[in-house]
Amino acid sequence: MTVPNITLNDGTTIPQLGFGTFLIDDADAERAVTEAFEAGYRHIDTATIYRNEAGVGRAIAASGIPRDELYITTKLWDDAHTGDAAKRAIETSLEKLGLDRVDLYLIHWPVPAHGTYVEAWENLIRFREDGLATSIGVANFVGQRLDDIISATGVTPAVDQIELHPAFQQRVVVDFAHARDIAIQAWGPLGQGKYPLLEEPAVTDAAQAHGKTPAQAVLRWHIQRGNIIFPKSTNAARVRENFDIFDFELTADEMAAISALDRPDGRVSADPEERNDIRPSK
Ligand code: NAD
Repeated sequence: MTVPNITLNDGTTIPQLGFGTFLIDDADAERAVTEAFEAGYRHIDTATIYRNEAGVGRAIAASGIPRDELYITTKLWDDAHTGDAAKRAIETSLEKLGLDRVDLYLIHWPVPAHGTYVEAWENLIRFREDGLATSIGVANFVGQRLDDIISATGVTPAVDQIELHPAFQQRVVVDFAHARDIAIQAWGPLGQGKYPLLEEPAVTDAAQAHGKTPAQAVLRWHIQRGNIIFPKSTNAARVRENFDIFDFELTADEMAAISALDRPDGRVSADPEERNDIRPSK
């Protein structure tokens, strides 16, 4: 099974399917990421605030997988947007991961009320110039926030990583990003297990028609929509299940039925425009 690659606006490629690590603690991360590698995943999404970069790094080191076959993303936390803190943050992440560069480095949240995200973006541009990150992007940026950083620097983020699943599709944000050639990474692709997506008839019917599970039907919907995804599970069987989505194709009708689950109150996590409390990363 081959995971398709998506070409980003900086000319690099990213595997469309990866493994997410939110809420996997450091002690469990080595096992979980090792199981993901064994299942075939090569793209791992972590973040400073997940506090599991060292565990991810141990799994990378133990895997023996050549560096150029891996795609590793981590993220700059809210308390380190500015000044020397940003440089220290990426250096600490790299040290924990055991890497001399990450494939993708993101601003984790804009925290608009603090007015620091443009400076954070200038820092990421410098990190890319210095070879600490191959690609740079943002997470949880909507609309004008994207244009703020582009117009201030002339550099367009390679990706925008936003909450996105069939019940909350953020079509305005997606269209805005696509118009600027920014790829969409869909976090919470399964609705974080909080929204009963996997029980929706549109999902269960499509799954049944293809002999697949509801989770596989939802993940396949993302793939056919062109989203980059990295579902999370610490259950090895589910980790393998979530990887096994490249031997079937949803029909146009099945895609339309799942797309019709979009709803204004489908958000399962924080609204980035309102999330302005900075929790310390340590
Ligand atoms: P997700 O949608 O991947 O849901 C994870 C939950 O879905 C699991 O805890 C489990 O309960 C359930 N699940 C997983 N596989 C399943 C299966 N096969 N069958 C049934 N249930 C299954 O949510 P997520 O982990 O929040 O999102 C994925 C990744 O996105 C994260 O791990 C993280 O890497 C990233 N993320 C980024 C941000 C951000 O602000 N940038 C926020 C949240 C998550």
